[in-house]
Amino acid sequence: MKTRFAPSPTGYIHIGNVRSAIYPYLLARQQDGKFILRIEDTDRARYVEGATELIEDTLKWLGLEWDEGPIVGGPNEPYFQSERKAIYQAWAQKLIDMGRAYADDTSPETIDKYRNLCYNEKRPYLYRDFRPENPPEWHEGIPLRFKSDPKIRKWHDEVMGDMEAGPEVQDDIILLKADGLPTYNFAHIVDDAEMGVTHVMRGVEYLSSTPNYLAIYEALGLEVPKLVSLPHILAPTGGKKLGKRDGAKSVTEYRDDGILPEALLNYLACLGWNDGSEQEIYTKDELISKFSLEKIQTSGARFDPVKILWQNGQWIRKIADKQGIDALYARTAGFWPESANDYDDEYRKAVLSTIYDRLKTLSDLREMTGYFFADPIVDPELIIGNKFLKKFSEEELSELLQISASKLEQTEWNANSLQQTLNELLAEADKKPAELFSLIRISLSYAPFSPALHLTMSVLGKNTTLARIRNTVTALENH
Ligand code: GLU
Repeated sequence: MKTRFAPSPTGYIHIGNVRSAIYPYLLARQQDGKFILRIEDTDRARYVEGATELIEDTLKWLGLEWDEGPIVGGPNEPYFQSERKAIYQAWAQKLIDMGRAYADDTSPETIDKYRNLCYNEKRPYLYRDFRPENPPEWHEGIPLRFKSDPKIRKWHDEVMGDMEAGPEVQDDIILLKADGLPTYNFAHIVDDAEMGVTHVMRGVEYLSSTPNYLAIYEALGLEVPKLVSLPHILAPTGGKKLGKRDGAKSVTEYRDDGILPEALLNYLACLGWNDGSEQEIYTKDELISKFSLEKIQTSGARFDPVKILWQNGQWIRKIADKQGIDALYARTAGFWPESANDYDDEYRKAVLSTIYDRLKTLSDLREMTGYFFADPIVDPELIIGNKFLKKFSEEELSELLQISASKLEQTEWNANSLQQTLNELLAEADKKPAELFSLIRISLSYAPFSPALHLTMSVLGKNTTLARIRNTVTALENH
């Protein structure tokens, strides 16, 4: 078993592209096979500097290590198509020698004329209807075309099932471009054969070209690998293919937003595949053992940006709960508010333990933890206007805070004792938890959300907690 991921280095890594790496990776690992990374960089016009590194980094980040390809090498080097020109030309020569390929110096203007002619006559445009009679000798500088052999072609797609296509979709496609480099249509066939790829897994958009590919395999006497067409990823509303505007981000953006690689892998693997169970959270190892081609769905899979966030939240908790807070903390570098730089790891870890179960992405830390690292801006309106506190006068509120501060001052500063003190305060003041605790909570954080009060206070420490409560008292008195 040999599978491959064959991206073109054009810059942006669309998440649909990554799924075309995940499935072949899972299959290769499951069957003890090899997973190849091949860089399809023959389209020099679309080539983007640095894009190959981006692909490599993305695969590494997701934990999809490749067995053959750039960096690691392998028996079929080079793994960059642009460096394999001589190999394609040698295979092309075989076709020329057999009379199955011809050089074609027809000008683009003339080709346009043929196209228009067909359009006006309302018949499909097929280049083979205009095949030149006396083609020149082939040399670099002129394109080389395949001489098609149109007939009914039948094949089996591992996902789409038994397929059949008529002669009308088979044409004299270009094999080598004028610059001597191959087209995708030719290059991938040569490479998959040379590299011993057994399963060609790629987007379903290549299905319509398959009859042309089969003709080339046949002409070259090559065995056709197993063909696996992966369903489209659809926009959240369904109906159309997922585009950049539909809320899908590039892999880099997800990473920078604080999506964990485990979560993205999990999400994308399940976009168009499921093992038939209700399970939603899969580790990489579980995916490897459970993946199967039969369970890839044939219809498009809807992209759901909300589900990625949900799954990421689950993964954040899973890492903290199973591997410990240190393991989660190790992932959070770069996601803290700037003010957190003045604090040490231990303090930040303590903050993280109070709040991780509320995070959807790691970047939520930036918005949700500011008051742990800097005194919040005191705003009495937030207290007076609070729905639980509206019914009290400012004097009552201020008095409640003062009583709380005095009692807290006597408390041993740990989460358990603080919890106990808060409960006693509740009984003594004869207030509802939502009232008393909202009041203290806002005084400490002035944020829309903060973790359980006893935990927040225990992390903030005695001095800060009491100082903030007293600041609020002063603000209420001066209001
Ligand atoms: N280079 C093609 C792409 O990026 C790969 C298609 C394939 O996997 O064969 O879409």
